[in-house]
Amino acid sequence: MSGGPASRALFERALRVLPGGVSSPVRAFGAVGGTPLVIRRGEGAEIEDVDGRRYLDFVGSYGPLILGHAHPEVLEAVREAAAGGATFGAPGVAEIELAERIVSSYPGLEQVRFVSSGTEATMSAIRVARGASGRDGIVKFAGCYHGHADHLLVAAGSGLATFGTPSSAGVPAAFAAQTRVLPLDDEEAVVELFRREGDGIAAAIVEPVPANHGLLIQRREFLAALRAATARAGSLLIFDEVITGFRLGPGGAAERFGVAPDLVAFGKVIGGGLPVGAFGGRRELMRHLAPEGAVYQAGTLSGNAVAMAAGLATLRVLEREAGWARLEALGSALEEAMAPILERAPMPARLVRLGSLFWLSLQDGEPPRAAEAVESHAAERYRDLFHGLLRRGVALAPSAYEVGFLSLAHRPDHLARFAAAMAGALGEVGAPATRP
Ligand SMILES: *Cc1c(COP(=O)(O)O)cnc(C)c1O
Repeated sequence: MSGGPASRALFERALRVLPGGVSSPVRAFGAVGGTPLVIRRGEGAEIEDVDGRRYLDFVGSYGPLILGHAHPEVLEAVREAAAGGATFGAPGVAEIELAERIVSSYPGLEQVRFVSSGTEATMSAIRVARGASGRDGIVKFAGCYHGHADHLLVAAGSGLATFGTPSSAGVPAAFAAQTRVLPLDDEEAVVELFRREGDGIAAAIVEPVPANHGLLIQRREFLAALRAATARAGSLLIFDEVITGFRLGPGGAAERFGVAPDLVAFGKVIGGGLPVGAFGGRRELMRHLAPEGAVYQAGTLSGNAVAMAAGLATLRVLEREAGWARLEALGSALEEAMAPILERAPMPARLVRLGSLFWLSLQDGEPPRAAEAVESHAAERYRDLFHGLLRRGVALAPSAYEVGFLSLAHRPDHLARFAAAMAGALGEVGAPATRP
């Protein structure tokens, strides 16, 4: 149980016409059990399901909604843009303005191209890296997610610096074999791989703040070592800032850590809730893209007026309202509110946080920095907690591995509600059964 009668009836219908009843897998509640809530509307920090139940929302559509749901200024920008025609298949003013804003905000960035999703952004950045370098090899890190392009749906085989194996059916082994998978937080493995086969590697791609397998905050030294190793080998470094771009600050994780990539992928926040992605780099790299260069990439709806308007309005509000400083203060307040409650929890529990990103780590010891360090039984502990919170009107993502998102619509009283719900939910979970 989780969704009420109206949610359940609608989800029955959904199951007939949508695989798993959803348009993206995590939404199906597979990891936590129960029936998904069918959401009717959102406003500010809250969502409402079709049964009329309201929830304080920390999912934020998995990242884009940094101003909360239906922000009036974003709505107005979208209405106005749509009224003038949504898309023309021609250059527009808004895409030039948004590109200027992004380029002037991000370290070392000179040009961007717009796409319609984060997946396209990382996929196309990799194509540029391959086209520019004339090399095929790609390095990714276990636990990092970069969307669902073939050569990035790859898991580590056994051992360090392994050849990738497909992590999805339908991905040819031959594609995965072009991808090496390394552990995060391990400079030695990086140096060793690039020493051995760096001259065949077009690029290493990393989430500089990995936020798709819990929140695995990296040491600056690790990112700096990766920067140095790629440069030494003549390989490119791609930062996937689809979550962190314009969330951690206008310069993303690159600015926060003082390590700049050669190419960067954006998504989520830059679209303000509409489908937008972008990838970019120095002009000398981006000139490889068609129409100037030989790397082909295109999109019917890329840079459309409505999506660009939503992105522009979002960045405008963030800048005008000192958004990033306010989000940091909110994050810090959340940590303070949660700390005493999590300390008394009947299981190991801590809040891992960076800016407006947070994650509940339900295991002993220091917060994990690599996927291998995340214990799988934490996911079982999360289930009960998730449902306990949902019953108390707080929506977290239905998976232990997804992070939570704060928005400018969250207020101190929302955080207090969240903390009270957490105390209640933890009280219900009780002491964990001892495991063999
Ligand atoms: C969400 C995400 C993507 C994929 O973006 P989509 O818009 O879902 O295709 C890529 N990289 C990271 C780090 C993400 O979090």
